[in-house]
Amino acid sequence: AFATVPSQPITSLALADGSRVEFWANVASPNEAKAAASLGVAGIGLLRSEMLFLGATQAPTEVEQIERIQELLQAAGQRPVILRVLDAGADKSFPFLRLGAEPNPALGLRGIRVLERRPDFFRSHLRALLRAGVGYDLRLLLPMVTIVQEVARTRQLLERLHAELSAEKIPHLWPVSLGIMVEVPAVALKIQDFVPLADFFSVGSNDLGQYTWAVDREQGDLGEIEASGRAALLDLCALVAQQKQRPVSVCGEAAADPSMARAFIARGIRRLSVAPALIPALAHALRESDIPDA
Ligand code: PEP
Ligand code: MG
Repeated sequence: AFATVPSQPITSLALADGSRVEFWANVASPNEAKAAASLGVAGIGLLRSEMLFLGATQAPTEVEQIERIQELLQAAGQRPVILRVLDAGADKSFPFLRLGAEPNPALGLRGIRVLERRPDFFRSHLRALLRAGVGYDLRLLLPMVTIVQEVARTRQLLERLHAELSAEKIPHLWPVSLGIMVEVPAVALKIQDFVPLADFFSVGSNDLGQYTWAVDREQGDLGEIEASGRAALLDLCALVAQQKQRPVSVCGEAAADPSMARAFIARGIRRLSVAPALIPALAHALRESDIPDA
């Protein structure tokens, strides 16, 4: 039940049902963005923005952020770039955010929870992104969303910043596409509630797995749970893919594993975002495999 059109072997594969699986790239630096561009990927499915802030002891100014974001956007070329707003936490700490140590960083202040508690920084970050995105197909992605209120408040904040920038006559990207990471089981279970608020969904299987199995993603010893627990993770992904109003991608490491990729595709997911270095091998493995119909 599988066919392939090898004209663009790296960027996508055709399935027997006429649909295509697209390969997008996960990148974290301008060099990786260039590597992705030279592969000809459909887009940058996950731009981890943490590198914009590495080593910063003081919050970077709006203008400093704009310069660094544009360096990344230029490296990616003219293709869609899904940039994840800063995903900080006690495990990925940045001195200027002054996050305290936490006994259990995976369950504490992370992603959007941090941003909402640092409103001055969140404002400057979003303003920098809107300003840097002029002339690019830049889309924003919120990390560690758990409840709809977090997304609704971010949308309101973006609206306010748009009004502010307009009043200041500062060019900026508007309207802006806003999607969310699905990395907390609560979001997958209530995905329909997020449809009116999110323009797209990106499944972060690294964290979604950790929170589904109650296994620290840094803990190497519990492989059996991960292996046998995959069915539960895939059921959550299926819930996300079942809603048909919004595009869905998977951007966790599992997307680069051919057997998991086949399972995602079988559940209706048509966009896989993986590290550029892993795309050729994944495309090759999938081309040679028989993908079950969704
Ligand atoms: C994920 O959680 O799967 C993900 C892609 O985000 P990160 O690995 O950066 O937490
Ligand atoms: Mg994550």
